[in-house]
Amino acid sequence: MLQKQIEGALNEQINAELWSAYLYLSMALNFENQGRPGIANWFKIQFQEEQAHALALMDYVNARDGKVVLKPIAEVPVTWETPISAFEATLEHEKKVTAKINNLYAMAEDAKDFATRQKLNTFVAEQVEEEDTVRQIIDDLSLIGEDGTGLLQIDRELGSRTFTAPQL
Ligand code: MG
Repeated sequence: MLQKQIEGALNEQINAELWSAYLYLSMALNFENQGRPGIANWFKIQFQEEQAHALALMDYVNARDGKVVLKPIAEVPVTWETPISAFEATLEHEKKVTAKINNLYAMAEDAKDFATRQKLNTFVAEQVEEEDTVRQIIDDLSLIGEDGTGLLQIDRELGSRTFTAPQL
């Protein structure tokens, strides 16, 4: 049985993952409107990944005989003028998610909830990967600047991303 405080924090994290999913879906729609189908594809896969994060946490709460309570998902921004501004916003957001997971990890440790702490290990590793991937895309976008051919190439590369369910 989950301690109430941990159950509450896991529910908050579930909401945060769903908010992330909603944010990336909004980015996908924004770039579809701007005629950047590859970048839109990348964010749509990100949308799927965030749903997988939320679902994995829901499964875990249920496995521990806790109760998942779905709360409203707050509004997300709708417009990003340039690809780099969206990826910079993504990196800033993922850093906040990393901090939330670290807090949750510390809370589980303090509460001697070792099962939750263990479960969060994969999330800690996942955040390292998320931040690293986004940083690389930002570096590429900075390098090409306003170059249309470069942007087209990056759009094609990001268009080849496919969804692989994260192992959580
Ligand atoms: Mg996530």
